[in-house]
Amino acid sequence: MIILGIESTAHTFGIGIIKASQNACQILTNCKDSYSSSDIGMIPGDIAIHHKKVATDVLKRALSEAKLSWEQIDSIAYSAGPGLDPALWAGFNFAKDLANKQNKQLIPVNHCTAHLSIGKIINHAKDPVYLYVSGVNTQVIVQQGVKNKNKQGKYKILGETLDLGMGNMLDKFARTLKLGFPGGPKIEKIAKLGSFIKLPYTVKGMDVNFSGLLTKCTQLFERKQASTKDLCFSLQEHAFAMTIEIAERAMAHTQKDELILVGGVGANKRFCEMLETMCKERGATFYNVPMSLAGDQGAMIAWEGFLRKDNYPKMEVDPHWRTDEV
Ligand code: AMP
Ligand code: MG
Repeated sequence: MIILGIESTAHTFGIGIIKASQNACQILTNCKDSYSSSDIGMIPGDIAIHHKKVATDVLKRALSEAKLSWEQIDSIAYSAGPGLDPALWAGFNFAKDLANKQNKQLIPVNHCTAHLSIGKIINHAKDPVYLYVSGVNTQVIVQQGVKNKNKQGKYKILGETLDLGMGNMLDKFARTLKLGFPGGPKIEKIAKLGSFIKLPYTVKGMDVNFSGLLTKCTQLFERKQASTKDLCFSLQEHAFAMTIEIAERAMAHTQKDELILVGGVGANKRFCEMLETMCKERGATFYNVPMSLAGDQGAMIAWEGFLRKDNYPKMEVDPHWRTDEV
């Protein structure tokens, strides 16, 4: 079955085309065009304008790279949420017009569960605990009823951030340091030179809290009471250890022996090294996702569309559609 997936939840407009069967996802193409701004960050209205402007061109590129005609494509899937409202509508309207024109089935999918599903299929994992750490999200997730291969079980969030996502927290501190956006990779580079200082470590049961850690780092920096490199190193060590603690507890409770890291913060080598150590110590396997599939793109939307094609909600867009509502 050939599915075309459209992603538009945030700054990326992407179209991926896959050839899918029960246990295999072959990516034929994964084209995208991302909105960027050097100083002001993401303005939702501007992002929607960007997506409308580039959509036709990205589609042309995708069809030509995949060497496919419309007759060969079975269905169209699109990201229905969560995300920025104007960006979601731009993607939905494009997908709907296309489905009407080409007479194809239109499948709404959840952006977050698409990140999880693509992580699972490319690693051939069986029944993992997912650690989803992006700009906005920091969640420990499992899927129920995985043993029934013909049914997609419900997702359950076992733990999450109670305030901001880890990526956003790193980006905020990077902004204080005047490092620009995205800040995560820049903090990672500086952290390599630093040493450990003690900072707030906030784990509440299965949840974490990042604002105390961020405030303390900001204060120490502004008062010149710690060096930038020590702060970058120690911020990472604390945030990573807190998150790994709840992920490990989820593995212990559920007795699962696979962990998949998805989301943009997964690019951080130190984070992966710490997760690898934790998994090794408990005889579990750690997986992450290659950079080409870690960020937002259309192939993961197409694969999630394949998984949901026989049972999906009647909807247009939902900016607040949570993983545990899927
Ligand atoms: P996403 O929301 O999944 O697109 O991920 C974007 C987030 O990942 C941003 O907050 C980035 O700062 C963060 N990020 C990207 N690369 C790294 C890295 N090497 N280390 C830490 N955070 C990163
Ligand atoms: Mg994403």
